[in-house]
Amino acid sequence: MLADNNNNQSTSVLFACSELTPWVKTGGLADVCGSLPRALQRAGDDIRLILPGYKNVLDQIEPPVFVAQLDLPLHPVALCSATLYGMEVLLVTHPTFSNRDGNPYMSDDDRAWPDNAWRFALFSQAVIAVGQNRAGLNWRPDVVHCHDWQTGLVPALMSLEPERPATVFTIHNLAYQGNILHKLYADMGLPIELFNENGLEFWGQASFIKGGIAFADRVNTVSPTYSQEIKTPRFGNGMDGMLRYRGERVSGILNGIDHSIWDPAIDGHIPHNYDIDSLNLKSRNKLELQQRLSLPKDADKPVFGVISRLAVQKGIDILVNAVRQTEHLDYQLVVLGSGDTELQNQLMRLTHDYPDRVAVRIGFDEALSRLIEAGSDIFLMPSRYEPCGLNQLYSLRYGTLPLTTRVGGLADTVLDADEHGDKANGFLIEQPGAPQLANGMARALERYTDKPAWRKLQQTGMSETYSWDESAHRYRQLYQAAIGDAALEYEARRVRA
Ligand code: ADP
Repeated sequence: MLADNNNNQSTSVLFACSELTPWVKTGGLADVCGSLPRALQRAGDDIRLILPGYKNVLDQIEPPVFVAQLDLPLHPVALCSATLYGMEVLLVTHPTFSNRDGNPYMSDDDRAWPDNAWRFALFSQAVIAVGQNRAGLNWRPDVVHCHDWQTGLVPALMSLEPERPATVFTIHNLAYQGNILHKLYADMGLPIELFNENGLEFWGQASFIKGGIAFADRVNTVSPTYSQEIKTPRFGNGMDGMLRYRGERVSGILNGIDHSIWDPAIDGHIPHNYDIDSLNLKSRNKLELQQRLSLPKDADKPVFGVISRLAVQKGIDILVNAVRQTEHLDYQLVVLGSGDTELQNQLMRLTHDYPDRVAVRIGFDEALSRLIEAGSDIFLMPSRYEPCGLNQLYSLRYGTLPLTTRVGGLADTVLDADEHGDKANGFLIEQPGAPQLANGMARALERYTDKPAWRKLQQTGMSETYSWDESAHRYRQLYQAAIGDAALEYEARRVRA
C-alpha cells in the first residue's frame, strides 16, 4: 500500500517514453506521456522527458538545440533539446530514428523495423546516460520513470550501477514485450549476468519488458483491475509468475484525461461545440458525421462509434460478427482504425454488405476521431483485455455512452445502466463475444428510446472528471515509495560490501 500523505516534496523525474502527444502517437501511451508530466509539473515536480528523435518529430519542431554527443556502448548518438509545454524534452537522435518515415515501430507499409530491439536498446542506453548524470547536463533525477518494453532495459541495466536513481516502470500493454533471441542479446554486448530466470530470460529469449518488471523499484499498470488481472495466467502473457513474485511492488493507477484537449465545449475539431447543458447540440455533429461518411442523414438514428487499433485485442472480429447478428436492429455504425490487414478486410466487407448502415475509414485521423466521439451515441469497445482504455473516458466526456467488456480499465470506469442506478454511465458485457456484444447493442438501443433516461446517463458520464491531477498525485506517492525502496537496496548492498 502507498501512504496517502500530503506530498509536497518536489521530485526530479526523467520521463522516458517512445511516444508523446502531440508529436508522435500510435495509441494511448502517447496521450499519457503528453499529459502526466504536465500534471506532475503542476504539482511541483522537476520533469524532463526523453524521447527518440524520430524524423517526423524533428520535422515538427524548431531546430532542436544540440546538447551533447553521447558515446554509448552500442553507438554514439546526439542528444538534442526541445521544449514542450514549458518542459525540456531530450531527443536521442540517431539515423535509425531520424532518417525513417513511418511510425516509431513500423514502416509505412506496416512492417516492424527489423532493428527495433537494437534501436530501443540504444535509446535505453541514452536514458541511462542522462539518468546517471553522464550526459553533461549537471542534473541527476531522483526517479527514472520508464514506459513499456521500449524502455524495459533501463531498470535492468541501471540495477548494475553502484549508485542510481529510483526506477518506476509503467506497463501500458503487457502483450508487447520486446522479446529477442539470446544470440541477438549477446551480439549487442548486453550484460550476460542479467540473463537468468529472475532477470531478462524469458523462455530462452531475452525480454525487454521483463527487465522493467523484474528490476524496477516499483511497477505499475494503468488501471487497478489490470494490475490484478496480469497476475493471472489468463492475462499475464507468461509474465504472471514474475508479477506475482513482485507482489506489493506492483500496483495500478488509472489514467486521466487531458481536459484542455478532450472537451466537447472547446474541441476545435468538431463543428458544433456543446457541454452538459447544451447536449441537444450534439446531434448536429451526428449529421456532420453522417454526411462526411456518406451515411443517410438522420439525427434520430442511433449511431455506434469505434476508434481503434485494428487488433485482436480490441475485439474487432467480435464487432464484425455482432453486426451480422443484429441485422434486425435499426442503427448505424462508424469505424475508424488502422492495423491488421485481415481485420481491415472484414470491416470493408461489412461496408459492402451494409452500405447504408456501416461506414469504415482506414487510417489514423485525429480530426475524424473527434467527430466520431462527438457525433456517435454509443461507443463500442468489445476488447478482450484493456490495460486502461482512453476512448471510453473520452466518450464519457463527449456524452457518448460506452458499451464495453468488463475487463481492465473498462471495468474500473464503466458502470452499467442496469446495475448502477444513479451512478450508471454506460453498458457492460461480461465476456468478449459476438452474442454478448449483440445483446449489449440491443440493450443500449432499447435504452436509447427512453430519452430522459438516456440524458441522465450522458450527464452522469460527462460530470466525471478523471483528472490527471488526481492520477499525478498517486504517481507522486509511487515515486516516493520507489525512492524509499532504492535507498533500502543501496543500504543493503553497502552493508554486504
Ligand atoms: P491503445 O493504446 O491500446 O491503442 P487506448 O484506448 O488506450 O488504446 O488509446 C488509443 C488512443 O489512440 C486514443 O486516443 C484513440 O482515440 C487513438 N486512436 C486509435 N486509433 C486511432 C485512429 N485510427 N485515428 C485516430 N486516433 C486513434
